Amino acid sequence: MAYVSYPSNAQQLPTVTPQPAIEGFVNQAPMREPGLLGNLKIMWKFFFDKPRDTVPGGSIPVFELTKEQLLAAPDYSLYRLGHSTMLMKLQGEFWLTDPVFSERASPFQWMGPKRFHQPPISIADLPPIKGIILSHDHYDHLDYAAILQLAKKTEHILTPTGVGDRLIKWGIDADKIQQLGWWQSTWINGTQFVATPAQHFSGRGLHDRDQTLWASWSILTPELKIFFSGDTGYFKGFKEIGDKYGPFDLTMVETGAYNKMWPDVHMQPEQSLQAHIDLRGKVMLPIHNGTFDLSMHSWYEPFERIVELAKQHDVRISTPQMGEEVDIAEPQTGKRWWLFPMAQASKPVSLQSALAE
Ligand SMILES: [Zn+2]
Ligand SMILES: [Zn+2]
Repeated sequence: MAYVSYPSNAQQLPTVTPQPAIEGFVNQAPMREPGLLGNLKIMWKFFFDKPRDTVPGGSIPVFELTKEQLLAAPDYSLYRLGHSTMLMKLQGEFWLTDPVFSERASPFQWMGPKRFHQPPISIADLPPIKGIILSHDHYDHLDYAAILQLAKKTEHILTPTGVGDRLIKWGIDADKIQQLGWWQSTWINGTQFVATPAQHFSGRGLHDRDQTLWASWSILTPELKIFFSGDTGYFKGFKEIGDKYGPFDLTMVETGAYNKMWPDVHMQPEQSLQAHIDLRGKVMLPIHNGTFDLSMHSWYEPFERIVELAKQHDVRISTPQMGEEVDIAEPQTGKRWWLFPMAQASKPVSLQSALAE
């Protein structure tokens, strides 16, 4: 029997005891699956037909961060540390989403997608973390080595149902963990964290497909509303979330790793923009790009497409560099920093001149 938790209202709820999942968790609507032949086609394309520029030819510019700088930063600052790893300072406390610090998003550290850039700060240098928010159990979101190291300096870990059980099995203190089903929420330090729906799947190996839930998160602070998409295809849930919790001051929406061969688990940039509009977002910050090569598109394509679409539809967008400080209340548009490694790929060039083009 499939199990999805659907409480009618999002009140404060205690830690949810996960129900046994036999077939696994399911999406609001069934997803189109590639099937055996489709999967073989995907594998063939991955190994033999991969375009050249799915990884950067030059180095990605990173703002290095220090603990002192973070401690002195104003409230409601945000830093992109990579992929979907965002560091936020909310009411003086630090929060991290999907912390990935390892060299590879893979079960192995000798093969699999290798990161394009170093994180702007190491786990050891990070200040104490009030909480970690996890979206789902995939290697590019739940990094085993990182979560074990971070757990020691973290007070709370919020996960979708079932993901927390995995953390407990890995030895993380169960008292730190709160597991929420869709539309359930918890309050910490005056901020409400709601596990909102997403359309995706989960699993780390061959035998655990969909055994843990996936979610997006709506973070409702006393002053600002923030949305974090996790991984998701486009679905009607964005409109529901927007109606219930919008308008959002900032939406962090996945924009990358898309492909027509898997249309329902990740969004094309047009859909990411529509999701932001459905959520009634004020400013969109595209995530899930710029760190790992997980599809067949060029590594910079998500940035170029979403920036162009945002311009066409008059949507405010923010593309900060890795480690660059962002004011969540008034995010900067940001430079087209991906032009630097692109320019560097063909000739030696300075960061300044690449960004001036
Ligand atoms: Zn995923
Ligand atoms: Zn992902």
